[in-house]
Amino acid sequence: MSVSGIPVLNYHAIDNNEANLSSRNVSVSLASFKEHAAWLHQQGYSSVGKDELRDIVLNGKKPNGKRVLFTFDDGYYSLYKYAMEILGQYGFTATLFLSTSFIGKPYEQKDFDFVSHDRQLTWEEIKVLVANGWSIQSHGYNHFRLNSLSHEDLVREVVLSKQIIEQNLGTVVDEFAFPYGIYTNNVIQELKKAGYKMAYSVHSGLLQSGGRRYRLPRIEINNMDTMDTFITKVTTGYISPSNERRSKIRDIIYAHPAVKDMIEKWTPMFGFGNH
Ligand SMILES: [Zn+2]
Repeated sequence: MSVSGIPVLNYHAIDNNEANLSSRNVSVSLASFKEHAAWLHQQGYSSVGKDELRDIVLNGKKPNGKRVLFTFDDGYYSLYKYAMEILGQYGFTATLFLSTSFIGKPYEQKDFDFVSHDRQLTWEEIKVLVANGWSIQSHGYNHFRLNSLSHEDLVREVVLSKQIIEQNLGTVVDEFAFPYGIYTNNVIQELKKAGYKMAYSVHSGLLQSGGRRYRLPRIEINNMDTMDTFITKVTTGYISPSNERRSKIRDIIYAHPAVKDMIEKWTPMFGFGNH
């Protein structure tokens, strides 16, 4: 099989109680997560390293074999409790996109990610993830929608979140994942000014060498996925053939993020959405 791109998998939390899972809940079950990791290992996938990823995205190099990138958003305790060990069994690592204002706090249900029965990670736990090879990157400070902020608030989300992680961990933060997948051309310009090298959307597709570095694709894995839909997402980057057609048209139309801004401003019914 030729290497057609890297699946960037977008998870949130892991729950060992199936009764907690619903279509509104973005956790995946512990059993499913174990199956996902085992299948990827059995198929010969390994985690893309940070330097290799840079070469692929920034320098247009090809992946050196079958690669996958596990990503987790927000920063839930279940990553420390379950994901770290399961991924570690197969030599996989992951990138955690952290919303820094939540760290160490009890779980509060928010309007975005419906994750019940979990809490936010502490810095001590995050340091253990780092020691296990995880990369900790930014998902903003307050998990705000970045298209509706004042300039001052946008700069805080982009700059403060990076500084807090760098100061607490002594690592480099130069990747960003947009809360809700929402971004504008202005957001991308602020990321560049702050020193970010790449950013992840929730656009479908596989990550290609030399791809759009501030709008890299990621595909959400959730508890509605069966093993069949998981395999389709990993191997194609899309949920379905119709999702693939729509996404490819959108990618052409949204060639420049400023064009996307204009379309979203003037024709909200255009409806290509994020996926
Ligand atoms: Zn999020």
